[in-house]
Amino acid sequence: MDGEADRHAWEQPGAHEVAPGVHRIPLPLPGDSLKAVNIYAISDGDRVVLIDGGWALDEAEELLARSLKAIGYQLGDVRDYLVTHLHRDHYTQAIALRRAHGGRVAVGEGERACLEAIRTVEVHPDVARLYEEGATELSRMLAEWHGERDLLNWEDPDRWLANGVDVPLETRTLRVIATPGHTAGHVVFHDPEHDALFAGDHVLPHITPSIGVELTRPPSPLRDYLNSLELIRALPDARLLPAHGPVTESVHDRIDELLEHHRQRLDATDAAVDGGAHTAFDVAGALTWTRRQRKLPDLDLFNQILAIHETMAHLRVLVERGWLTEQIVDGIIHFSFAGDGSPSDPSLRSGPSGAP
Ligand SMILES: [Zn+2]
Repeated sequence: MDGEADRHAWEQPGAHEVAPGVHRIPLPLPGDSLKAVNIYAISDGDRVVLIDGGWALDEAEELLARSLKAIGYQLGDVRDYLVTHLHRDHYTQAIALRRAHGGRVAVGEGERACLEAIRTVEVHPDVARLYEEGATELSRMLAEWHGERDLLNWEDPDRWLANGVDVPLETRTLRVIATPGHTAGHVVFHDPEHDALFAGDHVLPHITPSIGVELTRPPSPLRDYLNSLELIRALPDARLLPAHGPVTESVHDRIDELLEHHRQRLDATDAAVDGGAHTAFDVAGALTWTRRQRKLPDLDLFNQILAIHETMAHLRVLVERGWLTEQIVDGIIHFSFAGDGSPSDPSLRSGPSGAP
């Protein structure tokens, strides 16, 4: 059985050896949805290289220092922070530790625009996105919310990683592979010689990664994500070293499950439109969420927003595949069946029935 205790076993603090010279170090996260993020420490001669940096928190820094000490290193021994993407739980502590202890930070070049937006954006783009998605009340609430901008740990990396480059370490060579979807600039680090994939949040063993939760977002983040899954599925199989959850033996097996999940989700999204839901907000309300099958209003606000965006991403893919069409009515995007007589249906404009 997949018990609740088992699901959390991977969060246990420590430096857990997952391969010769590679240790998984879970660090705490604030909030109560996701409890920990894995940092991978790769021993590399007298230095150590970290995959991801964690969320900049005093307790996370202390735990990282203690865990590294257990395998013979100090924070000042970190030569490189190879960060999979720009989310706070991966990037900010790398920047904080670089400031205090040295080391170099690298992240995918596809994150450039997002880092710039973090520093400059005045009105959160979710205000407009939620409105388009039909979540007008949430949009209004967000517009009235004034958070403080904290730019302390959003400095530039030392290096922007391009797709396909090799990062040569003393003990191995890591290949950078761009995997847009979770974020536009997400990268994974592939170690083909040791059959290991440092997957960041691209492939997670227990949960389905969120799609396009970022300030700058491409037009169809789910399409990008599905393409990135297929891209990694086409490589030889490898052990999965994820940023959240335990290490598992097969990247391929988990990708197959994720592809199946999204196939079912696309079907359910399509069925919800068939059932009369026409905006992303209404469709999200017709679907169930999390593995506990919860309804949209039962989620906290942050997760409601994620759910609505995720629904929008699925609706977009259905439009791209020609199953649905969309039209904007009073600033809100309405979806309907491609063949159900909606005014935007091209078959009606030039159809065999003689119209126009
Ligand atoms: Zn993430």
